[in-house]
Amino acid sequence: MSEPDLPEILESLKIHAKYSKACGIKYFQESEKPKCITTEDKQAVLNKIIEQMGDCKRCKLYSTRKNIVFGEGNPDARLVFVGEAPGADEDVQGHPFVGKAGQLLTKIIEAIDLKRSDVYIANILKCRPPSNRNPEEDEMAACIPFLKKQLGVIDPKIICTLGNVATRALLDTNAGITKLRGRFHELAGLKVMPTYHPSYLLRDPSKKEKPGRI
Ligand code: URA
Repeated sequence: MSEPDLPEILESLKIHAKYSKACGIKYFQESEKPKCITTEDKQAVLNKIIEQMGDCKRCKLYSTRKNIVFGEGNPDARLVFVGEAPGADEDVQGHPFVGKAGQLLTKIIEAIDLKRSDVYIANILKCRPPSNRNPEEDEMAACIPFLKKQLGVIDPKIICTLGNVATRALLDTNAGITKLRGRFHELAGLKVMPTYHPSYLLRDPSKKEKPGRI
């Protein structure tokens, strides 16, 4: 076990203990009223993951990025969106999906009667590839473990992957988005629903499910 994992494991154990209490598991012999895992607990573990990443230099993208875009939203979200990688706006601001594609994603979220703050938004890569080129294998291999840790903490009901890159990377498949989209796939017990990337919908609005609504 590597040293940086320890704080996260301790934090996870605390959460597990709380969860066990909430479930009424007896070996804790607690007298107080059971509490549920709180959003704050999850945020605390997410903060540990940010600490672990530090000033990440695990791949070459550190040399061109302006900011690490960790992801943001409700740590207890039932729905998580996973995109490809930060673009220019995201790199400057340090937040995911804040450019043109992000504005469309916000509309999509609102079209299903949710707010951005209800969901969690992250990317396969946390640093911008130069000129928005596609993520490379070594970059994804370095970054995806952190995304998987995030997903493990949030434990959403549904992960919605946006576009080919995110879908292929998370589901570890070479199949295309057109074949995979619109039905559930499984990732370590979590449900994954691939759909088109908002940038693609901006280029071809006819691919929106209900043209004119968003
Ligand atoms: N496209 C992505 O895939 N992610 C972002 O954060 C922004 C644009």
